[in-house]
Amino acid sequence: MTSDQVKEVTTKLLEQFRNPEDLPEKLAFLYINMGRWSARWSAGNQLIAMIYEASDAATYKTWGNLGRQVNKGAESFSILKPLKRSYTTTDDDGKEVRRSYIYGFGGHNVFRLEDTKITDQEVWDKFADNKKAKEFMSEAEEFFAPVLTKLELKSFEASNTQGSGAAAWYSHKGSITMGVESLQVTAHELVHAIEHKLGNLTIAPGQQPDNELVAELGSAVMLNLMGHEDKVDLGFTYEYLTNYANGKDLTKTCLSLLYRVDAAMKFALV
Ligand SMILES: [Zn+2]
Repeated sequence: MTSDQVKEVTTKLLEQFRNPEDLPEKLAFLYINMGRWSARWSAGNQLIAMIYEASDAATYKTWGNLGRQVNKGAESFSILKPLKRSYTTTDDDGKEVRRSYIYGFGGHNVFRLEDTKITDQEVWDKFADNKKAKEFMSEAEEFFAPVLTKLELKSFEASNTQGSGAAAWYSHKGSITMGVESLQVTAHELVHAIEHKLGNLTIAPGQQPDNELVAELGSAVMLNLMGHEDKVDLGFTYEYLTNYANGKDLTKTCLSLLYRVDAAMKFALV
C-alpha cells in the first residue's frame, strides 16, 4: 500500500461528495439480533436476570408479542426501568419539538424464558433465529482477518444493547462491539482501533470530530483499497462527514487529515 494509492482513492471519494445530490440514498441500518430480548437491557438489569437464572426475560405482554405465553403461577422478578417524561419545547430554529428526560427508575415485572411456553411457533422462530447475526459476525471476521491479526484482536463482539448504537471501539477493553450488520461500520471501528494503536487518536471525553472524520473516511478508503467499493454506503458517509466537518469545507477538512488515513491504511493493508 503506497501513499499515492491512498491519496488517489481519497481524492476520488471526495470528488463524489462535491455533488451530494448524485449520491445514492443512505441505507437503513440492519440491527444485529442475537435472539435474546434482554440483550437490549442495561448491564445492571442483565445481571439481575442472571441472578434469577433466566436465559432470557421479558414482560408478560412482550412474551405474548414474541409468540410465548407465561405459565400459570409463574413468579416474576423486578428490573429497573427508566421513567421518562416528555415535554414540548422550541429548538434553535424556533420549531416545536418533543423532548424527554429520565426522572427516576421504577420496578418492572418480568418473567423468565424458562417459565413460558410457545404459543405461536412462527412468531417465536422469527425472533429467536440468530443465525443471520452469527453469519454476519463470522463474515466480518473473515473479511477483516488480516487487520484483526495486526490489532491482536481475536473477534468482534455482538452488541448487547440492540438498537441503541451502531458499533463501538472500547480502548479499555480492546474490543469492537457491533450493533449493525455493516462491513463499513465495522471498518470504521477498526480505524479507531488502528489509530489508538498508532497513538494518533485525539484523546478527550466524547466523540472527537477529527477521530470521527478519519474513521469514516478511512472506512470508505479501506473498502475501496480492498476492492470492495460496492460495500461503501456513500450516502451515509457523506452525511456523517458533513456532520463532523461542522460547517467547514468538507474536502479541505478531509485532506487536512489525509496523513492519518494514510497511516491507518498502511497499518491495515499490505
Ligand atoms: Zn466513530
